[in-house]
Amino acid sequence: MYRIGLDIGGTGIQMGIVDEKGHILERGEVVTNTSLPFSEQVRQMAECALDMVKKGGYSLLDIASIGAGVPGVADQKTGAVIYCTNLGWKHVPFREEFRKYIDKPVFVDNDATVAGLAESVAGVSAGSSSSVFITIGTGIGSGIILGGRVWSGAHGVGSELGHSILELDGEPCTCGNHGCVERYCSATAIIRMARELLGRHPESMLMDSCEGDLKKLTARHVIDAAREGDPTAVKVFRRFIKALGQTIANVINILDPEVIVLGGGVAKSGAFLLDAVRAEVPKYILYKELPYAHIELARLGADAGIIGAAMLS
Ligand SMILES: [Zn+2]
Repeated sequence: MYRIGLDIGGTGIQMGIVDEKGHILERGEVVTNTSLPFSEQVRQMAECALDMVKKGGYSLLDIASIGAGVPGVADQKTGAVIYCTNLGWKHVPFREEFRKYIDKPVFVDNDATVAGLAESVAGVSAGSSSSVFITIGTGIGSGIILGGRVWSGAHGVGSELGHSILELDGEPCTCGNHGCVERYCSATAIIRMARELLGRHPESMLMDSCEGDLKKLTARHVIDAAREGDPTAVKVFRRFIKALGQTIANVINILDPEVIVLGGGVAKSGAFLLDAVRAEVPKYILYKELPYAHIELARLGADAGIIGAAMLS
């Protein structure tokens, strides 16, 4: 049997027919059009999925289920999307609507959770029964896999690591709280910290990286300059690594998973990031003499969204 996975994003919906090992056998794509009503958006997705099945020479009898990952919050029991800002969805009956076109079990969950599931089935944490996936991009997303299954919480609102609080009365966050993890561990945080320091250190090579325009500064600029040894960039990178190390240690101290997987845009800095994180985390681990989670980089890249969604059950 095969499963269909949908990776629903703010600019496009990528989908695929996925086998049990997590291979994508056929692909489809719909451009996100947020000006359309929800029911019309779902109709386009379902039609694209039906075309994909036909194009690949499959029949609906070959398809066991359909899963979707959304950048938002879903109710796993009802299959409703409670909240997905990018698409303008609020309390929409995704499962019910999709099943009007394809009458199969339909599952829906948060996109970071879905990516974590993909890594645990076909990626770097395959074979482990517990793992926590942390995606480091503009914000911080996370997915918890326990006993080989997604853990989204008793009410579907768990695994919001990015909005757990790292600093008392710290930086204001988009969520309304202060001091959230994503204010210190994301690409946005790296840029903010670099801008703050650059006022006092105009000699930094970062000024050249962004051509003197701080609006053009990216997290990649900062990480690349830190790798080159630029003192200002190194200072920002060290602060970022300290915050990320403490965050990961918090996860380990609470859940003690087998693997921590780092994904998202910032994790593309590869070994430079991974080595720094691996050196930082043990400082904050409680039981230092005992084994703790392996820390690895995600392996599946952009396909994790499709593969993980297909694996939802
Ligand atoms: Zn927050």
